[in-house]
Amino acid sequence: MNWVKYYTREAFKTLKVVTVGSAIIVSVAFIKYRPVYKVTLSGETIGYIENKESIEENIEKYLDDTTGNIAFREIAAMPEYEFKLVNRAENVSEKDVVLAVQDTITTTYKTYGITVDGEQKVVVGSQDEAEKIINELNEDLNKNIDLKLGVVEVFSTELTLNSEDEAKGTLGEIKTAKVKEYEEAVAKEKAAKAAARAKAKALALAQAQAQAQAQAQDETQGIEGAVEVAAAPVSAGPISFIQPVSGSISSRYGSRSSVRSSVHTGLDIACPQGTTIVAAASGVVTFAGYNGSYGNLIKIDHGNGSETWYAHCSAIYVSAGQSVATGSAIGAVGQTGNATGPHLHLEIRIGGAPVNPQNYLY
Ligand SMILES: [Zn+2]
Repeated sequence: MNWVKYYTREAFKTLKVVTVGSAIIVSVAFIKYRPVYKVTLSGETIGYIENKESIEENIEKYLDDTTGNIAFREIAAMPEYEFKLVNRAENVSEKDVVLAVQDTITTTYKTYGITVDGEQKVVVGSQDEAEKIINELNEDLNKNIDLKLGVVEVFSTELTLNSEDEAKGTLGEIKTAKVKEYEEAVAKEKAAKAAARAKAKALALAQAQAQAQAQAQDETQGIEGAVEVAAAPVSAGPISFIQPVSGSISSRYGSRSSVRSSVHTGLDIACPQGTTIVAAASGVVTFAGYNGSYGNLIKIDHGNGSETWYAHCSAIYVSAGQSVATGSAIGAVGQTGNATGPHLHLEIRIGGAPVNPQNYLY
């Protein structure tokens, strides 16, 4: 069986050649080439990597990242991997592939816009920060000023944030403008009110002056004394009086005459010179002396805001501060001051204002 031996030997020989040859080929192949994954994205080669698991993990981690203001990430298509031998000269870089994959991923950010009157003015990183800024702005703010500040969630593929200082600066300017606007409006309203008040006051003054002029006592041409300016409100009710003299009425309260420039503030009772004048009611003498056109004048305060005045006296029997009883003699009829004949000019004043004596007497 020599031929068997021969062939076996030949077979071993061949096998040896094949094995050695293969080994050489494989060795040569591994010197020139290496096994890697070709990575493609939507059919386009983006690079070569050695470790498929590592890069897949890397991409997953990137997609799931929601740190900071990242709301979510989206990838259009997952990369595909193909195992193959490539020339060792080919650049194999996991970093480049990761960057290329990341380029196809869209990141959406969530930020917080602060609005004024519904209009977004600044964007900050968190709701807490937005609220903190709003609270600071509202601090010490006049309650009448409504800044109408609000917070809105803003989703964007670009992350643009205002720093806290920027946000405070921008919103602070808006606040300052609003405060100024409010203060100007208040000042304007105040000025308008003051103008209205001044106008009313000027009108009242003009009226008072006209009235005072109309009632100005005829110091020069009239008879009786001045009506005390602007009739004060009647503060006391009438009291009962007796007639201080008896005689005939020569001029009534409220009448006008050629010898007077104004309305008559008292009642004139004509009677002989020297006739005794008695107190119309009990009271305290507040004035007893000469007083311009009134001549010798006696004033008695009866309390409750009531007074009686007795003018043109020829004699005065009382003095200021003295208490007098009803009917007691206080003076005598004359024609001192502005008078054309002997008479008693009697005034009854309630709350400082002359009233018609005939409401009480004669
Ligand atoms: Zn008179």
